[in-house]
Amino acid sequence: MSTQAVPVPARSGALAIEARGLTVSYGENVAIEGLSLSVEPGLVHGLIGMNGSGKSTLFKSLMGLVKLDAGTIEILGGSTSRARSEGSIAYAPQSEEIDWDFPVSVREVVMMGRYGHMGRTRRPKPADHAAVAVALERVELTDLADRQIGALSGGQCKRAFVARGLAQGAKILLLDEPFAGVDKRSEGTITDLLRELASEGRTVVVSTHDLVAVPGLCDQVALINRRILAHGTPDRILVPELLAEAFGGFVPREALPTGSSTPELLRQAAS
Ligand code: ADP
Ligand code: MG
Repeated sequence: MSTQAVPVPARSGALAIEARGLTVSYGENVAIEGLSLSVEPGLVHGLIGMNGSGKSTLFKSLMGLVKLDAGTIEILGGSTSRARSEGSIAYAPQSEEIDWDFPVSVREVVMMGRYGHMGRTRRPKPADHAAVAVALERVELTDLADRQIGALSGGQCKRAFVARGLAQGAKILLLDEPFAGVDKRSEGTITDLLRELASEGRTVVVSTHDLVAVPGLCDQVALINRRILAHGTPDRILVPELLAEAFGGFVPREALPTGSSTPELLRQAAS
């Protein structure tokens, strides 16, 4: 973590996120069951699991977008609804969940982050325009601000949603599959940006089923398969036995990094 950080204070002593015993179902299908996770502030956390393991459902739970059958959630020591109304948590959904035909520009998407700061008229004031400009600059999208969101590449789109969270002033950013459909260069830009946000004291949670980016990105990793199987530093968690458990006994070769900082562990996992 950079020592030149500008801290974004959490309430003292509070975890960024504390989820206890979460169960969420869609009809008969139990997506997560008895899931508990404590997320420390000021770090980048990876949420790793195969398709259908409940990553998106966990994010939606943390945003109060799905009904809990059981369990409790605290965000910065308060409720999910308080976190949402204060704008302290932001969410970049998976690409599949975004309506790409919706006629809205990049700038307008980022301005949505300011809604909580505006009155009921939702008429932006100079401070809102300024915050949007700063956020766009930060994610290097100033030049594309007037483009339709649907005309962006995958990586640019993810950066637009990060900018929306920054304009909002979020202390916690949840990013669902930010590297899916993203080229290597954008992946590097997003990784650098997320590391910078953590060095400012923000908390970042990133889901992925792709392990390549993890060692260079995440301070902590949680393996998910309907519940959290293991949570800790990447060197403790990215070990063959735990990966095999998370991926149902099969670690997809393309999920394994080459030339990463933990090549030995991952070579073993592939074998
Ligand atoms: P992930 O993001 O890890 O791929 P999800 O949270 O999307 O996992 O899904 C977890 C489980 O819940 C899967 O079995 C999925 O099919 C199911 N599921 C997710 N969303 C819905 C939904 N809207 N309706 C019914 N089942 C769903
Ligand atoms: Mg998902």
